[in-house]
Amino acid sequence: MKALIVIDFTNDFVDGSLPVGEPAIGIEPIISRLTEQYAERGDYVVMAVDLHERGDRHHPETKLFPPHNLRGTSGRELYGRLQEVYQKHQDRIYWMDKTRYSAFCGTDLELKLRERGITEVHLVGVCTDICVLHTAVDAYNKGFAITVYEDAVASFNPEGHAWALGHFRSSLGAEVKTSRP
Ligand code: ZN
Repeated sequence: MKALIVIDFTNDFVDGSLPVGEPAIGIEPIISRLTEQYAERGDYVVMAVDLHERGDRHHPETKLFPPHNLRGTSGRELYGRLQEVYQKHQDRIYWMDKTRYSAFCGTDLELKLRERGITEVHLVGVCTDICVLHTAVDAYNKGFAITVYEDAVASFNPEGHAWALGHFRSSLGAEVKTSRP
């Protein structure tokens, strides 16, 4: 059994307050299509979405990044057609707030996957070398098989993106592949 985990594909991360920009805008159709396909096939789909509180001086990211994905803002809504796909398939997609890079950190993701007998996670979203990477590392440590769609992940840092794709393959044993058949 497998699950698609869509990581941080929100307005703020695509073209908002902490933007990946063009590389993220370019993968929107692929992420939307994959989300639709997985949901329609009945595979488990998780929308893992960063959540921050305004003026949270205790959060470690406060020192590192400008405010982003604040609770109740449009910056936290899904980017482009993905928002429509989510609305259409809301009954089949698990919206999961997360507050750290990894979708496993401080969430019930592992429980949700284990109770469904899911052994394989398929990752898409942003940023390849931050939240996708940290999620992949946790998935590896917990014994999940990992697939990363290389044409459905993106970063503002091209070198970090390329490095992370290599790391998924060489150190996490992930299958790194294109979404095209
Ligand atoms: Zn964040």
